[in-house]
Amino acid sequence: MSRLTKAIIDLDAIVHNFKLAQKWSNRSDNIAVIKANAYGHGAKEIALKLEPLVKAFAVAIFEEAVSLRKAGISKPILILQGVNSVEEVAYAATNNCWLMVHHQAQVDILVDAELTRFHDKIRLWLKIDSGMHRLGFNPEDVASTLEQLSSSAAIDKEVVLCSHFSHASDIPHPQNQKQLKIFNAVFAKLKQNSQLTDFNFIRSLANSPAIAALPDSHYEWNRPGIMLYGASLFDVPHVTDKDLKPAMHFISSVISLRKIKPGQSVGYGGKWVAQRESSIATVAVGYADGYPRQVYNNSEVFIRGRRAPVIGTVSMDMITVDVTDIARVSIGDAVELWGKNIPVNIVAKQAGTIGYDLLTGVSPRVPRDYTSNYSKIAGR
Ligand SMILES: *Cc1c(COP(=O)(O)O)cnc(C)c1O
Repeated sequence: MSRLTKAIIDLDAIVHNFKLAQKWSNRSDNIAVIKANAYGHGAKEIALKLEPLVKAFAVAIFEEAVSLRKAGISKPILILQGVNSVEEVAYAATNNCWLMVHHQAQVDILVDAELTRFHDKIRLWLKIDSGMHRLGFNPEDVASTLEQLSSSAAIDKEVVLCSHFSHASDIPHPQNQKQLKIFNAVFAKLKQNSQLTDFNFIRSLANSPAIAALPDSHYEWNRPGIMLYGASLFDVPHVTDKDLKPAMHFISSVISLRKIKPGQSVGYGGKWVAQRESSIATVAVGYADGYPRQVYNNSEVFIRGRRAPVIGTVSMDMITVDVTDIARVSIGDAVELWGKNIPVNIVAKQAGTIGYDLLTGVSPRVPRDYTSNYSKIAGR
């Protein structure tokens, strides 16, 4: 029997979720964030599906933009970490890539790049550190940074001021209002700056949770990532959970079944010991596929229409599931690890992490199968 472990990716769910972002923020454009292989879903396939709907894409690093161009994607691509060399600036300028500028070193590269050599004007997004303290210019340094860039005739005069929330998954947290205030103070000051009247400043702040629940942060551009993939957006259950459709259905199958007696243990280190006569199903997925090793004795899978506990340690290529209470489990049965029935965030919580981590961590060994009608398949 062949190994049935795969990630079924529902492209219609991604379209549905993108349209939700537009509905929830109808004064904004939404740039589809497809970094990290579209959060594990396959950047090329997701980009091809979304290209007719979106105005632009965002990726984290230069190489991700190059591979999307090689795949034939033509809409603008924002590189969230910007570029690290003159050669990369040249590529961006001739390949319709937008550049985040978050550090003086990148300003130096842009100024060095003899930009007039290139045909297209470069569109910049300027990152402001409004409180995350990870990337971006201090509020007091933004004006002088723009003055350095203003000399270049090859830089587009429409600049997107950008910042990122550190507490967006907890919208009531006061940090969000604090960052909003700092961000808008920078914007207001730049608009009044007589040295910078050539520029037209627009703004981008909201990521997925802020799109769903912080309308004050919606500006010309929002940056939805995780919501496109349908994972729930907040640390606690939220009304929007039911609106989003999970796009990834990570499944595997039963490859072995056995009965064990009370007192017998299962798996490496014998970490789980049967309290009663038990039926154990071995499922062909392990940490090398991206199933989190941290969940031992503490997670559930979906099998034969029921939830069943993962017991013992997660192995490299297998997990073991207690199916004592589920009738008629057989070899070859499909097992959902996360997706429609088991939200990825639930597994993530049990693993001490977040859905983003599990989705991006599904390994290259797992084939992605693209479908457009997953509800039909799931109904089988
Ligand atoms: C990843 C990322 C996003 C998307 O965030 P989500 O929480 O996935 O919506 C937006 N902006 C920046 C700068 C990012 O790095």
